Amino acid sequence: MRIDLHTHSTASDGTDSPAELVRAAAAAGLDVVAITDHDTTAGWSEALTARPPGLTVVRGVEFSCVHHGSDGRRTSLHLLAYLVDGDDPAIEAEWRRLRDGRRARGRVMVERLVEDGYPITWQQVSELAGGGSVGRPHIGRALVAAGVVPDVSSAFDELLSSRRRYYERKPDSDVFDAIRLVRAAGGLPVFAHPLAHRRGPVVDDDVVGAMADAGLVGLEVEHPDHDIHDRLHAAGLARELGLLGTGSSDYHGTNKPTPIGVCLTDPEVYEQLVALPAALQPVGDTAP
Ligand code: AMP
Ligand code: FE
Ligand code: FE
Ligand code: ZN
Repeated sequence: MRIDLHTHSTASDGTDSPAELVRAAAAAGLDVVAITDHDTTAGWSEALTARPPGLTVVRGVEFSCVHHGSDGRRTSLHLLAYLVDGDDPAIEAEWRRLRDGRRARGRVMVERLVEDGYPITWQQVSELAGGGSVGRPHIGRALVAAGVVPDVSSAFDELLSSRRRYYERKPDSDVFDAIRLVRAAGGLPVFAHPLAHRRGPVVDDDVVGAMADAGLVGLEVEHPDHDIHDRLHAAGLARELGLLGTGSSDYHGTNKPTPIGVCLTDPEVYEQLVALPAALQPVGDTAP
């Protein structure tokens, strides 16, 4: 069984529509794929409608969170919410707040770039997002279209990363509130790429312990942004804390070089995950 539990569509910052995403999953020989767009469930129904026979689809959301350290340090982190009730009013309202915040922050970043003479417009970025959750990759694509950079990754390195002056923070949800919201909405929270320090600062192990106490059920272990040391460390931490260790590609279509299915979840871990009580069930033939 080939299982990839973290992918993006045009409902957020991927470049495949949800229908194209599930077809790409089947074409890559996957048996199970999770669609996990940033702060939105908007891709779910199209993904289920277009699901090729033989593929199982897990509905999820990648929830934008922040950890506030006791020293005032803010660390942004991502929580995967699997099989969560997307119609739960509290979580729906929070995700709407985050999507509105993404648009406002996108506008600010575009304004800063325009002030410095980069030939892009908010209208163009908004169209690239197509009504989905706006993210920096959409600004990156506008910069690629304008010939400023050769690809989205270069746009991040040169202009969009949190270390650059064009960067603006998003609102994000306190991670402990987010874990409680996901559990209250019948979802299974898994910490996405917990050690992806290439993207920015990461939280310490004691924070992961506190997240486990708050109701976290798993950690991504196999992820393209984790090197071998990160994977070994995350696997050890998961074992120590009694968490499931998952694996995923975090596929974003052509916005990132990572192919779908490049990292996978162990079938036994998947069985344990979907056996936990949740608001939704995976959809497809390999569903339990
Ligand atoms: P945002 O959600 O707007 O803060 O943007 C973060 C998103 O940009 C992440 O979800 C990744 O999908 C993407 N991203 C981060 N770093 C890179 C990079 N170096 N190249 C391409 N995409 C990236
Ligand atoms: Fe993304
Ligand atoms: Fe992420
Ligand atoms: Zn992701």
